[in-house]
Amino acid sequence: MPSRVLLIIFCLLFQVVSHAQTGTFTGIRKVVIDAGHGGKDPGAVSLNRKHREKDITLSVALRLGKLINEQYPDVKVIYTRSTDVFIPLDKRTEIANKNDADLFISIHINAAKARSASGTETFVMGLDKSSSNLEVSKLENSVVVLEGDDYSSRYEGFDPNVPESYIIFSLLQNSHLEQSLQLAALVQEQLADGPIKVNRGIKQAGLLVLWRTTMPSILVELGFISNSSDLEVLVRDENQQNFAQLIFNAFKQYKIKYESGSGMTSYVTAPSDKRVENKPEVKPDVKPEIKPETKPEEKEAVSQDGFYSIQLLAVAKILRSNAPDLKGIKNTEYKLVGKFYKYHTGNFATIEEASAALPEVKKKFPQAFIIRVENGTIVPMNK
Ligand SMILES: [Zn+2]
Repeated sequence: MPSRVLLIIFCLLFQVVSHAQTGTFTGIRKVVIDAGHGGKDPGAVSLNRKHREKDITLSVALRLGKLINEQYPDVKVIYTRSTDVFIPLDKRTEIANKNDADLFISIHINAAKARSASGTETFVMGLDKSSSNLEVSKLENSVVVLEGDDYSSRYEGFDPNVPESYIIFSLLQNSHLEQSLQLAALVQEQLADGPIKVNRGIKQAGLLVLWRTTMPSILVELGFISNSSDLEVLVRDENQQNFAQLIFNAFKQYKIKYESGSGMTSYVTAPSDKRVENKPEVKPDVKPEIKPETKPEEKEAVSQDGFYSIQLLAVAKILRSNAPDLKGIKNTEYKLVGKFYKYHTGNFATIEEASAALPEVKKKFPQAFIIRVENGTIVPMNK
C-alpha cells in the first residue's frame, strides 16, 4: 500500500529530525558583531579626509545588532566595540571565543589604490596568495603595528608587510570553513541587491581578526571608500541602515537553515555546495599533502549496496587521522564533494541505526547529520 510506505518514510524522517532537535545542538544563540577599527585606528580614510572607515563600520554594526535584538530577543548580541575605541585584533577574537559565540561578523569598508575599484566582498579565513587578496589582508592586518611593540610575539611573528609571514595562516583550523562560506554566500547574495550592486564575491584571505576564532566567521567589506560613487552611498544614513538590513537578512536565512534539523535538511533540499561552486571567486586552499591511512578493500566491500553514515564536518584539505578537528573520533573516512573533503564516521545498514548513533556523535559535533553513501560517494537522502 503506497500510503503505508509514505507513513513509514514519514516516521523515519521524523525520527531523524527529532534526534536533531534533542541533541546537544542549541542553535544560534550568541552573535559577535565586530565594527572594524576604532579609536586611534581610523581604518581607511576617504581621499578628501572627511570620512573614516571606523565611523561607518560602527554605524552599520550597531544597526545590525539592533535589528537582531528586535527580531530575535533570545539571541545575545555582543559587540567588540559600541563606541569609538581602539580594540586590538586579538582582543576581538578573544571576546568571541570567551563568550562562546555561535557566529562572528566583522564589518569593514574597503580601500584600494585604484580609484575605479568598487563593490562589496565577503572574506572567510584562508590562505590565498593572489595579490589583490593580499592587499586587503595588509590593509586589515596593518593595525597590529598600532597595538604596541609586542605585536610580533602576540601574533607568532606576524608582520603585515612581509608576505612570507602570512604562512602562519596555513596552520588554521578549517572546521568551520563550510559554514563560514555558507554565511558569506548568503551575505553576498543579499548585498548584490543593495545600494552597491557590484558583487566581488566570496574570497579567502589571511585575516588576523578571523584567524583564531572558534566559530563560523566572516569579514564583510561593504564598498570602497576610495571610490567616489561607493563613498557617496556609504556615508548616507539610510544606506547604512540598508546594509545592516541586508546583513540581517542573510543572518536570518543562515539561522533558519542552520536550525532546521541542522545540515541534513539543507543537504537534502538545497545542496549549498553547488551555490559555492558556482562562485568562481572561491578558491579554498586545497593542498592534499598528507595522505591519511585508508583501507580501500574495506571501503569497496561495503559500498556495494551503500550504507548510512554520519557526516562530521567538511574541510578544504585532507586531515591527519589524529587531527584535532576530528575531536578524537576514530574510524573516520572522507569523500571529496566539490571542493570539500566531507568527513564521516560509522557504517550503518539502516537509517534507524544511524539515528541511534547520532546523539553520541553530536556531543562532539553538534552539527553532525546522517548521510547516505553509495559507490563511494555521498548521495541525496531522498533518493
Ligand atoms: Zn577595515
